[in-house]
Amino acid sequence: MLNIILCGAPGSGKGTQSDLIVKKYGLQHLSTGDALRAEIKSGSELGKEIGELIAGGNLVPDHKMIHLIARYLDNLSEDCKGVIFDGFPRTVAQAEALELLLERRNMKAVLLDLFVEEDEVIKRLLNRGKTSGRADDNYETIKKRLQVYQTETKPVCTYYLHRHNYFAINGNYSMEDTFCQIDNILKLAQK
Ligand code: ADP
Repeated sequence: MLNIILCGAPGSGKGTQSDLIVKKYGLQHLSTGDALRAEIKSGSELGKEIGELIAGGNLVPDHKMIHLIARYLDNLSEDCKGVIFDGFPRTVAQAEALELLLERRNMKAVLLDLFVEEDEVIKRLLNRGKTSGRADDNYETIKKRLQVYQTETKPVCTYYLHRHNYFAINGNYSMEDTFCQIDNILKLAQK
């Protein structure tokens, strides 16, 4: 099984690269952002609770996210070739929990750190905001999300770096160029 954690700031292209990886490697794509937005749309109690947090650029509490991921892993089909975790783990507590969840299932994951300059991600997100309809794609919330990324999520990269399960990707260029870097790493990781 080839399991990938795609880590990167908001707007770094995790969704786009996930689509390309799915196409070539047939992995399952789990975007926690999409899963949470679906929950909000459903009007459930949980959806109501997390809607405001997300609109404010804040993270959903760890225990809720870990529960969601555990449920997802429990429902993986037998023939699953691997999972792309897009947007999880976003804190070191989530990374520790994921390690245990994967270990119990005899699974492992490599982390790909998609690096893009801050000016570039702000430009991309403001552009996306014109059509995405997302409550968090406005300048003020983008700044807040980037700050949360630096303080809460960057340490997750260091966590994987220390475990020798870390690869850096330069995401400042075109999506094809970025995918080419990812593809080279995945070819090796598969062996
Ligand atoms: P982006 O990467 O552009 O910020 P996502 O769609 O991945 O967007 O996530 C949107 C929002 O959903 C995040 O800003 C956060 O509020 C919430 N979220 C997603 N994944 C997690 C997570 N693993 N832990 C906590 N909150 C999360």
